[in-house]
Amino acid sequence: MKTFNVGIAAALISLSSITSVMANTEQTTQRPTVAVLATGGTIAGTAAQETQTTGYKPGVLTAQALVASVPALDKVATVQAEQVANVGSDNMDNEVLLKLAKRINEVLKQDNVSGVVVTHGTDTLEETAYFLNLVVKSDKPVVVTGSMRPSTAIGADGPSNILQAVTVAASPAAKGRGVMVVLNDRIGAARTITKTDANSLDTFKATSGGYLGTLVNLQPIFETKVEKRHTTETPFDVSKLDSLPKVDIVYGYQNDNGYMYDAAVQNKAKGIVIAGVGAGSESKYILPSVRKAIDQGVVVVRSSRTGSGHVPADDAYPGVLGDDLNPQKARILLMLALTVTQDAAKIQDMFHQY
Ligand code: ASP
Repeated sequence: MKTFNVGIAAALISLSSITSVMANTEQTTQRPTVAVLATGGTIAGTAAQETQTTGYKPGVLTAQALVASVPALDKVATVQAEQVANVGSDNMDNEVLLKLAKRINEVLKQDNVSGVVVTHGTDTLEETAYFLNLVVKSDKPVVVTGSMRPSTAIGADGPSNILQAVTVAASPAAKGRGVMVVLNDRIGAARTITKTDANSLDTFKATSGGYLGTLVNLQPIFETKVEKRHTTETPFDVSKLDSLPKVDIVYGYQNDNGYMYDAAVQNKAKGIVIAGVGAGSESKYILPSVRKAIDQGVVVVRSSRTGSGHVPADDAYPGVLGDDLNPQKARILLMLALTVTQDAAKIQDMFHQY
């Protein structure tokens, strides 16, 4: 009798495990596919000590190792990991930017792919995110993430940021919102999110318009939409580009000098972004050089070094208004605008639209 019961129990157990395998198979086929494209940064960094949060080596772990370090991803999506670069984002350049954008556009054309996550160093993450926001030609979600602590640190934020980013990229509610930046439970818009602190985990803040949403218990909750045009609504086409026009940023400060502008022009800059004081004001010391640059066909854009707020029209100061883009994002838009036109009036229009 005892043997019989054990036999029945064993049969029941094996039946239930078949069911659970079937359920899992069913889940697997229903799970969305998300492509994770890795580019390096602290999220892929390692240090000798678990207490080390600086002085580590960025861009060490591969895309596959990054994904494998987050087993919980299995519950959210089928993940395809791919290495595009493995650099600290201080070394991110136009070549990698173009390669990344082209690859994302290719991957998003695949019917089975629901969204893309880019892992990236946090230092220039906002520049890449805004570039992608202007050149991705799909309304499928694209999410950029990174981490402030290397993978070896106690309390490393990378695994949770990857999990949240993949969750957002897999979410149908994330479609059509432009490129998003997900770190530390928050969903930000590429256009307005910026790194505000050199060390803190809570470093990415929305400068205006607030966050797009938040994640609670791994559920994305969307609260706002981006008004500015993005992705499929822009004229920028990276498929035919092998390089981008040279655009420099010159910082404004007391007693500043025109020679930085002269140097940019001599070095063949096609555009200059002024990180101006206050609402994009230009000192009397730089004005002759700024005017000279414009006369020579260089497009000059006025932005604010304060990091937020709008630049208003002012006849005293020459240049295209950078809207409320910070200098590093104004540079991204100016590079792309110059691939389409050199006409300052048309570029002005783009700064208001995108
Ligand atoms: N230096 C690193 C980078 O931007 C910082 C980080 O990822 O947090 O690649």
